[in-house]
Order: sequence, then structure tokens, then C-alpha cells
Amino acid sequence: MPSLIDLLLSRLATLLPSELKSTEFMKLVIPHRHSMLMSQRRATLIVNRVRLFAFLFAVLTPMWGIIDLMVFTYPLWLGLATFRLLACAAFACLLLFYRPSGNLFDAYRAVALLFAIPTVFYIASHTLLGGYQLTQASAMVATGYAFLPFVLMAGLAIFPLTLLENLVMASILLLAHALAGYLSWTTLNWPSYAGGFWLLILIAGVTSLASLSQLAFMIALVRQAIRDPLTGVFSRGSGQEILRLQWDTARRHDTGLAVAFIDLDHFKQINDNYGHEAGDLVLRECTQQMLASLRSTDTLLRWGGEEFVVIMPDTDREQARLALSRMIRSSLGRRPDGSPLTASIGLAERCVDFVESAEELLDLADKRMYLAKTSGRNRLCFEAAGETPSETPLSAA
Ligand code: GH3
Ligand code: MG
Ligand code: MG
Repeated sequence: MPSLIDLLLSRLATLLPSELKSTEFMKLVIPHRHSMLMSQRRATLIVNRVRLFAFLFAVLTPMWGIIDLMVFTYPLWLGLATFRLLACAAFACLLLFYRPSGNLFDAYRAVALLFAIPTVFYIASHTLLGGYQLTQASAMVATGYAFLPFVLMAGLAIFPLTLLENLVMASILLLAHALAGYLSWTTLNWPSYAGGFWLLILIAGVTSLASLSQLAFMIALVRQAIRDPLTGVFSRGSGQEILRLQWDTARRHDTGLAVAFIDLDHFKQINDNYGHEAGDLVLRECTQQMLASLRSTDTLLRWGGEEFVVIMPDTDREQARLALSRMIRSSLGRRPDGSPLTASIGLAERCVDFVESAEELLDLADKRMYLAKTSGRNRLCFEAAGETPSETPLSAA
């Protein structure tokens, strides 16, 4: 029985987007699994798409008023035109006053506002139209109003949303449609309403698929953009972005932020003696060793070549020193000749080193790494360059 389930799961896995790694599938389901950078990029993209949609609606909503004027009689078209102008003003406000902040909750609010405006417009216009006996052309245009929920549901497809986010958004739209039906239940044509509701559910399914495949592409692209291809850890550019975000958080909460600059010792010899391939293997193994001993909140990034940076949020100097010593003691891996791989490490911390910016913090850690190099390698240096350096000789296992 378990093997049958395994077989079924492995067959189903082949249906999932191939650009994703198996460890990334949960990222399609819930947003909590996304990294800080992914969430930030997704939030920016969502708000930008909301603004694009708001622009289109702000232009198209009043334009449709001309058709209303041609087919509806006086009090009705005036009522509809008023609703249209209010909706247009609301879309224009969304376009003008909403800017991407990189915060996912701001992005959710933007989507909620974008969908709330036409939903309220739909309910209001639907209620207004329900009170009139319409004939021929006017009845045809009034039927057009009933298509708005379908347009909104299909519009969800332009956002890279997770399954959970899709379900929440689609449920809200279905509830709004149900509410509109309830408000005009005396005049409602039930068979066509029920058919419409069913169609709306089908569109929600197709839209979720479109939205999820967009998200899968985005996850793969962001991974490629922010990860170093050899080791899989964060690359320099994304690492700097993470450091800046962590710096802002640490300053806001006045907490510690430690940064370690790590340079592997005599690495060139490995390439010279055993070839570049052997060097690559050592780099990959060393990264895995470092990741295994760091906390999940720490960030490891490859600064370049055989240089790495560890960002440790909410960590004071002593805690960072202990964590790095533990990391070295548990080994950085071995050189091809079997001897332990060693590193020279510079450590700087926001509070005790009185630095003014994230760049200064990193610079200081870099300078101390050089100090550790010139003092004999295989050590950790954590005092200001002008003062007597405090070094902890390290010995790898
Ligand atoms: P030191 O103890 O002074 O740091 O000596 P080192 O040999 O580690 O330092 P150096 O900066 O002279 O050399 C770094 C070497 O790292 C040079 C380069 O061949 C190697 N390297 C850089 N990137 C890669 C890579 O992606 N793969 C491999 N295999 N080697 C790399
Ligand atoms: Mg180097
Ligand atoms: Mg080196």
C-alpha cells in the first residue's frame, strides 16, 4: 500500500512545473516558505501589476459610460455614470498613492483594494439595474454588466500567487457574487445565475493554474538570480541586499548584527596541485559544512572565489565568536591531501564596533580578515585594526 502511494506521488510530481526543485514545491502552496528576497520581489511585482490594472480600469470605466448614455434612459444612466466616476476616482487614487514597499502585506492590501472597487461597483450597478424593466439594446448592455465578476476572477491570473492566496482571493470573489445574487434575489433569473456561478468556479480553477505556473517561473528565476550556481548559497548581489535589510531591522529594534568575512587559506594550492575540479568540490563541501553548523536565521553568501560572508542577525559579538569557533571546530571539510581546510575570519558587530552603515560593517570585517591572514592564518580576528588585535587561533578538526 505505501509503495502504491509512493508511486502515485512520484507520478503526480512529474506534473509539477519542471523548473522547480522538489524541495521548492511547498513554495507554490503557502507564502511562508519564501525567502526574504523572494517575498520582497513578489510584493513589488504584485503592487506594480495592481497599478497597471488600476490604470487600465481608470481609463476604461468612464469610457464605457458613453455606451450607457446611448442605451439607457435618463435617471438610470445618470446613476450608472455617478458609480463609474466614483470607481474611476478610486482607481486613480490607487494608481497615484500606492507605491511598492517590498512588504507582502502592503501587496495584499493593494490587491484587495483593486478588487474591492469593481466589486462594490458591480453590486451597486447590479442592484440599480435590477429595478428597471429593460428592452433590447439596453437589456443587452445590462447583461454585459453581469460579466464583471468573470473579468475580475480571470484578472487574478496576472498575479504570481500561491495556492493558499488564490483560494482566499477566489473565495472572496465567489462570496461577493453570492451577495450580489442575494441582494437582487426577487428579480433574479435563477437558472442563468446558477450557471454563471458554476462558470465562475471553473474560471477560478483555470486562473489558479495560470497564477501558480507564473509563481513557479518566478521562484526559479529568483533562485537563479540570487543564488551562486556552484555552491547554491546566496550570491554577492543578493547578499548585499539581505545585509541592508538585516541592517535596517537591527537598527529599528536596536539589536545586535554580526558579520563575518571568511577567506579560505592557501586555496590556490588546491587548484594548482589537484586541478580546478578538485577545488570546486572542496568549495561545495566547505559550504555544506558551514551551512550545517549555522542557525537557520543566519545567511551564508559567497562573496567571490574562496571568500564567504556570514550575516548573523540578533547576535552579539561573543555569541558570533562562539558560533564561528564551533563552525571551525566541526570542520570546514578537507583538502584533497586529507589535511583540514582552514580559514581566516574577520568579525565585526554593529553595537560594539559603532559603525554607521551596513557597508562599513562589512568593510571592517574584511579588514580584520586581512589582519587574521597577516597574523598567521587559521584564526579569527575581532578587534579594531588600530588596537591590539584580539585573535582566536582556530584549529580545524
Ligand atoms: P590565502 O591564504 O592568502 O587566502 O591564499 P589563497 O591561495 O587562498 O588566496 P588567493 O587569493 O591567492 O587565491 C584564491 C584562489 O581561489 C585563486 C583561484 O584560483 C581560486 N578560486 C577562485 N574561485 C574559484 C572557483 O570557483 N573554483 C575554484 N576551483 N577555484 C577558485
Ligand atoms: Mg581570497
Ligand atoms: Mg584565500
